[in-house]
Amino acid sequence: MTEKEDVKQRIDDLTDQINHYAHQYYVLDNPKVPDAEYDRLIQELKELEENHPDLKRIDSPSERVGGKPLDHFQKVQHEVPMLSLSNAFDEGELRDFDRRVRQGLGADPTYSVELKIDGLAITLKYEEGAFVLGATRGDGSTGEDITSNLKTIPSIPLKLQEPVTIEVRGEAFMPKSSFNRLNQAREEKGEALFANPRNAAAGSLRQLDPKIAAKRNLDMFVYSVGQIEDKEIDSHTESLAYVRDLGFKINPEAKHCKDIEEVVDYVNSWLDRRSDLEYEIDGIVIKVDSLDHQEELGFTAKSPRWATAFKFPAEEVVTRLIDIELSI
Ligand code: NAD
Repeated sequence: MTEKEDVKQRIDDLTDQINHYAHQYYVLDNPKVPDAEYDRLIQELKELEENHPDLKRIDSPSERVGGKPLDHFQKVQHEVPMLSLSNAFDEGELRDFDRRVRQGLGADPTYSVELKIDGLAITLKYEEGAFVLGATRGDGSTGEDITSNLKTIPSIPLKLQEPVTIEVRGEAFMPKSSFNRLNQAREEKGEALFANPRNAAAGSLRQLDPKIAAKRNLDMFVYSVGQIEDKEIDSHTESLAYVRDLGFKINPEAKHCKDIEEVVDYVNSWLDRRSDLEYEIDGIVIKVDSLDHQEELGFTAKSPRWATAFKFPAEEVVTRLIDIELSI
């Protein structure tokens, strides 16, 4: 085989393998490999595609958001797409993100930093203050209507403090204690265990019978406004305070940082504290705070240019290493 044929073969293999894993994860809620392994494969594919754009397949997973919605739910078209986030895997990549942002703006932005909750992205719509529709992200443009299941989550208000028409977005998740109890009960009954709280939350919310979701002790943090009528908001920080006042649950650890140095300190401060939390996080989300700046920077096909996710080294890998050491 020529070198080019070798590369083509590797791109084909990676594309098929990643598409299979993505289907298992997003559509069937049944991951087959640890996230770190999945991220490593995606990274390898992206690098090969960048160097050989002519070999990139039309069904490449590197440009796609999430997975197809399940057929047994009503489909919901998102008026504003629900995108993914670009990633930074170390401090250097975080500083590269800051450099790109400052270059794009020709100005120095401030940032909002938040915990990256490891659950599933949800959109909630309210008309004149009443909860009317809740949906999953799905493939970014079409999600699943899971309103009945979301109504069972106590922290999702059915009526807001003001009669506003608004769409908010956030992360539904299963707290660690609920996850442990659920898996223990399943083990006692000889049922298959959930791989992790994210997978358990996604599996619970994508059931047809809302009684199942109601028993699973799910929760939700709202982290942004999708659309709003008749309200001027200037910054992301301001939008979080606004939705908190409307009655949504906001993560208390969100912080406003004046520059990338403060962002790096915030990220570092969570590296060894994440396991103290009552819920799982897989990183830190960094967002340019000014909404004018966000608009100026815009989006790629898959993610906003004004935000990135710093990904923590995976706990699964650490556990695996410990397992190996113990078995030697
Ligand atoms: P992502 O989950 O890394 O980032 C985007 C998501 O972050 C958003 O959709 C939102 O739901 C979430 N989020 C959490 N807190 C947020 C906050 N404060 N502000 C904004 N967004 C917030 O991106 P993705 O493309 O959805 O998924 C990639 C992830 O899924 C990777 O971690 C990957 O390892 C994992 N994955 C794993 C497998 C597997 O087989 N193990 C397969 C596919 C994907």
